[in-house]
Amino acid sequence: MRLVRYGEGRVGVVADDGVADLTDLTGPHEPSWPPVQTQRLIHDYAALQGEIARRRERGPTVPWPEVTLRAPIVWPSKLVGMPANYQQHIEEMRSANRASVNGFFLKAPSSISGPADPVVLPRVAGAQIDHESELGLVIGRRATHVPAHRALDYVFGYTCLIDVTVRSPQERVTRKSFDTFAPLGPWIVTADEVGDPGDLDVELTVNGATRQRATTRDLIVSVPEIVAMVSSVCTLEPGDVIATGSPQGVGPLVEGDRVAIDITGIGSMALDVVRAEHDAYPLGWNEPRPVTPPAPSTGSET
Ligand code: MN
Repeated sequence: MRLVRYGEGRVGVVADDGVADLTDLTGPHEPSWPPVQTQRLIHDYAALQGEIARRRERGPTVPWPEVTLRAPIVWPSKLVGMPANYQQHIEEMRSANRASVNGFFLKAPSSISGPADPVVLPRVAGAQIDHESELGLVIGRRATHVPAHRALDYVFGYTCLIDVTVRSPQERVTRKSFDTFAPLGPWIVTADEVGDPGDLDVELTVNGATRQRATTRDLIVSVPEIVAMVSSVCTLEPGDVIATGSPQGVGPLVEGDRVAIDITGIGSMALDVVRAEHDAYPLGWNEPRPVTPPAPSTGSET
């Protein structure tokens, strides 16, 4: 199944000729706040699966020209990121970090944006703003201290995620949490349709030119180990999103770019890049960063 959010916060499943609506299966709507319909759908998925499949097969459907896709999930309780999780990316950043040592970080869930939204570059006084193309995983069941050999049972599905990042000396959560810094989509593909998350091809292009091309076979901390690691620290809830880390080839986004991400078996989306209207708070964004850090614990962050 490919689950979407579309229009004004509706949820649906992708059918042959459009989207079959599922909003009524997720409780009260019109209008619904907080917008957690996808979380409800994921939480109740086992009970709803038959009905979802029936609607996908028999409709009715909203035809594609009438569908504006939104981020398939917003308001996750956590948006987790893996730093430095591909060796070649570590080398290009000359970073002393490594996900298997440093663990994970958090990004503001409000940074999530959707397939129809532009990436809005903040005005950060000379600092470079990079794209990071990543496999995003979505948690299906509450997970606490889940061992790696059982971790895939807790993964609901996968999506494409761009971890937009300011290269500057600020705290990672500051550099990565601007609004629209986590484009997500175009849908969540359920895990049963994806197969091995450790064998997917990830590609990112800017204006049609390939910047990043990699395989998740090269993840240092694998998807099951990521779930084991994170769930050993904090309880993961249905709908929580984990960005699994960026491969090599990260590079700057500038106003007017068109950035596209594609993951085999999951989907693709292309986004316009625009510039924010207002200056970001003056934090000294373009101050020099240490290139060769003295120790991993204080090293430059990717
Ligand atoms: Mn990243």
